[in-house]
Amino acid sequence: MSTLVFSIANQKGGVGKTTTAVNLAAALAEKKIETLLVDLDPQANATSAIGIEKQEGRSLYGPLHDNGTAEEMITATSYPHLSLIPSEEDLAAAEIELAQTENYLMKLRGVLSSVRESGRFRVILIDCPPALGMLSMNSLAAADYLLITLQCEYLALEGLGQILRNVERLKTANINSALELGGVVMTMFDIRTRLSRQVVDEVKNHLPDKIFSTVIPRTVRLSEAPSFGQTIFAYDPLSPGATAYRNLAKELIERFKLHA
Ligand code: ADP
Ligand code: MG
Repeated sequence: MSTLVFSIANQKGGVGKTTTAVNLAAALAEKKIETLLVDLDPQANATSAIGIEKQEGRSLYGPLHDNGTAEEMITATSYPHLSLIPSEEDLAAAEIELAQTENYLMKLRGVLSSVRESGRFRVILIDCPPALGMLSMNSLAAADYLLITLQCEYLALEGLGQILRNVERLKTANINSALELGGVVMTMFDIRTRLSRQVVDEVKNHLPDKIFSTVIPRTVRLSEAPSFGQTIFAYDPLSPGATAYRNLAKELIERFKLHA
């Protein structure tokens, strides 16, 4: 069975990338799909949210500098079928240092290739920093599909053009000609506001075949879980947030035939 790599990227922060990366990865694992979550954000929010303490020397910083392998960084989590490559502050330096190396956009792809080829994981999910810098661009170069999270707020679509243009650039420059937009996840949906509904409708009009029909509600439980180092499935498995991420995983599985 082949491995599919999804990059969750967006130049904006606070749009639900990490919450989606962590809980979507956990939902896939809950469905017994072997999943590797890669934390590529030096802030290491995904690492702590999944209950792993960050540790100097345990991230892709070394492998990105030809020092050690990605395999060596794979860390078990307390969740069956879910592994993590953690992040730590050092990774921030890679943002600058990568630019000075040869084929700098292809570094991560090279680093992850043996993990990918091993077939150990069905899904690799990469959580990106909130900027389209070296790390995010490397993640796009390494991915089969980009997943975009958009907050249900004014100007949600702003910046969408920028990231999609970057995808086109990577394709036409033959850095990753196979890269596709895999889907758009609407997050922090507030049922009490008409605005949330309007934003979802607007995105639906723009990208009808990309938007997932599952919309992630704004709920305090989803924002509390990370401070306990837990996914929503450990923290409050019957909450609306948990249900939403389960449904999103179901859609992803169907859209990409992850069971096949
Ligand atoms: P990003 O990784 O894009 O910066 P995060 O996933 O860290 O975004 O989310 C930003 C903030 O919003 C965090 O404090 C997070 O806990 C909170 N948050 C994310 N999704 C939700 C949601 N559906 N409901 C409530 N709070 C959320
Ligand atoms: Mg984040």
